[in-house]
Amino acid sequence: MVLLLHLKNLLGRVGRIAGNALDAAFPASCVSCGDLIEGTPLPHVCDRCFSRIYIVEEPRCLTCGYPFFGETESRNNCSHCDRLVPRFAQGWSVALFRGPVRDLIYALKYEKGFWAIEDLVKIASYAEGLSDYVKDALLVPVPLHPRKRRERGYNQSALIAAELSRAFQVNHSDELLIRAIDTPSQTGFNRQDRYRNLKNAFSCPSKPAIDRRQRYIIVDDVFTTGSTLNACAAALRQAGAKRVDVLTLGHG
Ligand SMILES: [Zn+2]
Ligand SMILES: [Zn+2]
Repeated sequence: MVLLLHLKNLLGRVGRIAGNALDAAFPASCVSCGDLIEGTPLPHVCDRCFSRIYIVEEPRCLTCGYPFFGETESRNNCSHCDRLVPRFAQGWSVALFRGPVRDLIYALKYEKGFWAIEDLVKIASYAEGLSDYVKDALLVPVPLHPRKRRERGYNQSALIAAELSRAFQVNHSDELLIRAIDTPSQTGFNRQDRYRNLKNAFSCPSKPAIDRRQRYIIVDDVFTTGSTLNACAAALRQAGAKRVDVLTLGHG
């Protein structure tokens, strides 16, 4: 097991070095418009597309993280999450799920574009207050069912959680939550069906591993209706977790 982990780390490092060398030899192209780029804040987003990234600032919805664009009527929910009964305390979304953020997440999720993680985590590092939000928390990625994980070859949320934990120097664990039921894709389901589809889909395989004093942050790529994050939060709480929050890179 230890040997396997070493091998994985080594391969990860070699991959990164090779990636950096390739980037140096061939200028990258922008994930959104395809223009060749060099020397921009993000390695795969040109300056023009970079200016289209909307990083969420205060005031924001405290449940899903959607920006209020200056209006501050109720901070605890918004039209995106008003029918959600959250099993987590707080939610944070780094940026709106559009433009380059959507393109980067699509590349990572559907095209094995592992290079996109660097851009996404860099975008997260620009989110003011996020390092305080994740401080001392344990990041827990939304798990994929083993069949889906085999099919895709990786869990993008686990990769995101791992890189965020490196960037913000917090711990993460891929082993606290499992997706025990292979549910159909949520796409095309309404809110009620999403809830039914996900009920009992997630569980904690090792209840003693839950620390009641620990704050857990469930990490996913995108906040859509919050159903998946909520089902994960419910599973963690059922296993004894008392402090559960959520974090997504994009808000759809
Ligand atoms: Zn561009
Ligand atoms: Zn909201």
